[in-house]
Amino acid sequence: MFIDLQELERQPVDFDEEFRPGAIDLGPDFLQRSGLRAAGRAQLVEEHHGKHQTIKDIRVNGELSTQLEMACARCLEPVLQDVKRSFDLLYRPLGVDAGREEMSVTGAEAEISYYQGEGLLLEDVIREQVLLALPLKAICRQDCKGLCPQCGANLNSETCSCAEPAEDPRWSALKDLRSKLEH
Ligand SMILES: [Zn+2]
Ligand SMILES: [Zn+2]
Repeated sequence: MFIDLQELERQPVDFDEEFRPGAIDLGPDFLQRSGLRAAGRAQLVEEHHGKHQTIKDIRVNGELSTQLEMACARCLEPVLQDVKRSFDLLYRPLGVDAGREEMSVTGAEAEISYYQGEGLLLEDVIREQVLLALPLKAICRQDCKGLCPQCGANLNSETCSCAEPAEDPRWSALKDLRSKLEH
């Protein structure tokens, strides 16, 4: 859905969209497992600078929810992740802040990005928000044992015959010390 600046000049645009899996490209690391619902409002925010300059910002706020699948950071098995996020964003025309060290912060809490041309794609807004809502890592369960570093076996479901990793000499020194203290 294209958020058209010209349309916003007439009135705010409300949206309530359901994106099926694949409609928004989330990259190779995430699989969308349910519809992605995004609802909210886009509106024009005009900034007046002096008598002659008006900057047209687009404010997009709303909320989204979906369910994604990502790989467990330890064992690589799929983990389902519920994603829910509300957002309040301000898009300024690209280039408007060029050469300026500081820009006037318009919306106190709003995050600021840029748009180019005649408007922006809702899909791009949503993609960015979904990726921001995701944790950097997910694990399938707290006690996930992960993969054997030597043969790659999933240690949650199988045991392998690789030797135990050699003990770190610092730990053995500590153990010696402890046994001396105990006796
Ligand atoms: Zn795991
Ligand atoms: Zn192994």
